[in-house]
Amino acid sequence: MKLEELDKKMKACTSCELAKTRTTVVPGEGSAKAEIMFIGEGPGKNEDLQGRPFVGAAGKFLNQLLELIDLKREDVYIANVVKCRPPNNRDPKPEEAKACWSWLEQQIKTIKPKIIVPLGRHSLQRFIPEAVISEYHGRALRKEFKPLGELVFFPCYHPAAALYNGGLRGTLEKDFKKIPKVIELMKEQK
Ligand code: URA
Repeated sequence: MKLEELDKKMKACTSCELAKTRTTVVPGEGSAKAEIMFIGEGPGKNEDLQGRPFVGAAGKFLNQLLELIDLKREDVYIANVVKCRPPNNRDPKPEEAKACWSWLEQQIKTIKPKIIVPLGRHSLQRFIPEAVISEYHGRALRKEFKPLGELVFFPCYHPAAALYNGGLRGTLEKDFKKIPKVIELMKEQK
């Protein structure tokens, strides 16, 4: 399925309770041919109003991190585990994440990124439940991920975490700077 068709279907989704309180669905945005897919947890207030992912303060920092490695938002794909804002930015409930999961699977299947960058511990744990962000950030790992097959993950801290904890800013910058090398290595292996 094409991304546009997928977006259209997501925008009409009423599979969970979040459909009742959302302003707009936030399917994700970027290149359909992206080599890198960034995945946050869920839309916040600004994202809910605009229908676009990472447009608030965390999004500004994400844009700066992308600039560091000469990338623009249009070069990558940015999405979230859940596509609708949980009220008051609470964590998505397990049944909400479950109801939304097939959208993300279909996005990954369509885009076929070379690496998936889960942003933050919540997103990371949806993919790799045993993973702890403080140990796994800035490291590439291959993992069989049913039903999509083997995927390469490169977990990073959530950009919002660096807004609260300034010490993580440098860590995120250091981790992002490794991304081009990881992509290069993967191309060499092919
Ligand atoms: N935080 C997220 O995890 N996703 C967004 O889209 C914005 C903030």
